[in-house]
Amino acid sequence: QADTAMYRAKESGRNSISFFKPAMQAAADRRLTLEKEMRRALQEQQFVLHYQPQVNDEPRVVSAEALIRWQHPEKGMISPAEFIPLAEDTHLILPIGAWVLHETCRQIKAWDEQGHKIDHVAVNVSSRQFRQAGFVQQVRQALLDTGVNAKRLVIELTEGCVIEHIDDTIAKMHALQAMGVRISIDDFGVGYSSLSYLKSLPLSQLKIDQSFVRHINDPNAAVIVETIIMMTKSLGLNVIAEGVEEQAQIDFLKAKGCSFYQGYYYGRPVPADAFKFSL
Ligand code: C2E
Ligand code: MG
Ligand code: MG
Ligand code: MG
Repeated sequence: QADTAMYRAKESGRNSISFFKPAMQAAADRRLTLEKEMRRALQEQQFVLHYQPQVNDEPRVVSAEALIRWQHPEKGMISPAEFIPLAEDTHLILPIGAWVLHETCRQIKAWDEQGHKIDHVAVNVSSRQFRQAGFVQQVRQALLDTGVNAKRLVIELTEGCVIEHIDDTIAKMHALQAMGVRISIDDFGVGYSSLSYLKSLPLSQLKIDQSFVRHINDPNAAVIVETIIMMTKSLGLNVIAEGVEEQAQIDFLKAKGCSFYQGYYYGRPVPADAFKFSL
């Protein structure tokens, strides 16, 4: 069969080289193009933040998570899953992340001025961004520039980010805590972390990964969720479940003691001007 393909490719001439071009090459080309376009995107302000509501158990909208999107002039809306990993590899996450912090604070201020009540907005900070030397100062500056109180900002870090370079993590977390900024651990439960280190960190929240919420009917997932909630409570932290799409999931989580929820059931991420402050 391979021989036949080779024969056909030869027969149809030079252009058929592409017939053999590995998919990996195509992916590499696409990354290179995206990287170039991403540099331009920053200058041309093609990034935008959407906001997804976070709800307490009343249920009332209490906060939001800021989620970046790329409004590409030709390709349309590109999701962060597609470009954030590349932004991390190319270090473009540093200017992008700085923009996210500033833009989030600017939006908090704008909502305040419009009379909207929201306790805080959470931003995602990637490992490379958190590891940079000036990170704490960058947060302080974003708050200062926009006149936003540190209590209004929550920083979401993943487990992986927290456990690598633990000394640096602890120092930065304490500096952020001293400022009044709170920290949440995103996608909690999928990492490799031993739970014991959590006690020693100045955290305010754990965010249960949506994969557990999605599979909550699976006894293994249910046990993990139950354990995370129990542990979170015993540490005196808030716990929020991510990816709630059905009432049954909320009922289960609530019965286990969860107190905050985020997911399509309550609202999808939307542009700031479409954000609903009540359900
Ligand atoms: P994340 O921080 O864990 O964000 C939650 C993701 O789950 C978001 O995807 C959100 O739209 C999605 N989601 C929320 N509720 C539901 C639900 O009920 N069902 C389903 N199926 N999905 C739900 P999104 O916006 O595509 O973001 C993906 C990831 O990209 C984020 O995961 C985060 O890791 C990263 N990201 C997003 N914005 C930023 C940013 O500004 N900076 C950095 N460094 N990373 C970001
Ligand atoms: Mg997040
Ligand atoms: Mg998450
Ligand atoms: Mg995630």
